[in-house]
Amino acid sequence: MSSDDTVLVINSGSSSIKFQVIEPDSGVARQSGLVERIGEPEGRVVLHHDGEVLEEVGRIEDHRSGLRKAAELMASVGHPLPESGIIAVGHRIVHGGSEFYEPTLVDDRVLKEISTLSDLAPLHNPANVVGIEVARDTLPDVPQVAVFDTAFFHTLPMPAATYAIDRDVAREFGIRRYGFHGTSHQYVSERAAKVLGRGTDEIDQIVLHLGNGASASAIAKGRAVDTTMGFTPLEGLVMGTRGGDIDPGVLLHLSRTAGMTVDDIDALLNRRSGLWGLSGVNDFRALTERISAGDQDAQLAYDVYVHRLRKYIGAYLIELGGVDAITFTAGVGENAASVRRDALADLEMFGIVIDDDRNENGQGERRISADSSSVAVLVVPTNEELAIARDAARLVRS
Ligand code: ADP
Repeated sequence: MSSDDTVLVINSGSSSIKFQVIEPDSGVARQSGLVERIGEPEGRVVLHHDGEVLEEVGRIEDHRSGLRKAAELMASVGHPLPESGIIAVGHRIVHGGSEFYEPTLVDDRVLKEISTLSDLAPLHNPANVVGIEVARDTLPDVPQVAVFDTAFFHTLPMPAATYAIDRDVAREFGIRRYGFHGTSHQYVSERAAKVLGRGTDEIDQIVLHLGNGASASAIAKGRAVDTTMGFTPLEGLVMGTRGGDIDPGVLLHLSRTAGMTVDDIDALLNRRSGLWGLSGVNDFRALTERISAGDQDAQLAYDVYVHRLRKYIGAYLIELGGVDAITFTAGVGENAASVRRDALADLEMFGIVIDDDRNENGQGERRISADSSSVAVLVVPTNEELAIARDAARLVRS
């Protein structure tokens, strides 16, 4: 074991690859970058290194050539991958099904299983599999570790994991609530406990991961007991382009009376709903600007977003029988003070009081509740890549 050890973390999506070279022990990210618009006419590779940003534009045929270009860019700044002390490649895998809930060393069998789970996550797992294949080719002697987004929610109690549908259908097709963003919820809940100087096993908490995708979780003494995303990452909160909860009858109606196909409905739910569907913008900063300019649609989108959030906070407060901490994380959760204020407004009777000054000022990991608040309200920046790097390092060192 050496403190110079690094882990290459790869998050491979359908048309992009995010990567970081991280020292798992110190938490330092030596390099990070992004390959995007793979397969489109104008691709882009970006590398952050020593406070500098390098960029290369041009067609990127496929994931393989994308990762190769990223490796070349790293070599050009004096850090070729084979000489970067990489002890493992950690892969973010969206769906682990019922089988995978621990960081797992990837061999041919595991790769095949992850591929088979593509039925459950057709938008994500195939791209994750490509990421593993490409990394295996690029670094054939380095162990590949799969870290699953569903893993932390493996512990959901049956009443929280079960949909009330025909049990035979559910069994045959693996229909249950899996939950996603697990790496973030786990990492943030552990940091939150540290900020409070308590063990995760001593406290009950709610974590609100509000990024482009968004989900909430209820965590009792370190164990996830409920979460808003379900069989897919479509359920629950309002997101950038996904609307979260919807009466399934709406989809039947659109199919029967509007002649929408399954693909039409898929596109509606994944890409034309949420903030974008209601206001025409999915980026929270753009939404806020429109609200300031008096845009009523943007205002309604914001109000629906906050309404759904409050509804789940209420549900989880009851499920947990009160909480010690409520923590905001991810792009919106870390930066949008108005969302934090409005999500927890008027909850004094539940012991939840935000301090406006702490909420609006300050940066990084911090407490934003008033001293009089019996529930600690926190902001904790998420770092899924570091969590994956540490999981991967732990596994290969064990
Ligand atoms: P992803 O799910 O893609 O990882 P992020 O966690 O990066 O997403 O969150 C992206 C969201 O965070 C976007 O809606 C973006 O507008 C929002 N966001 C980022 N910075 C700010 C800010 N300063 N104020 C409000 N929203 C922000």
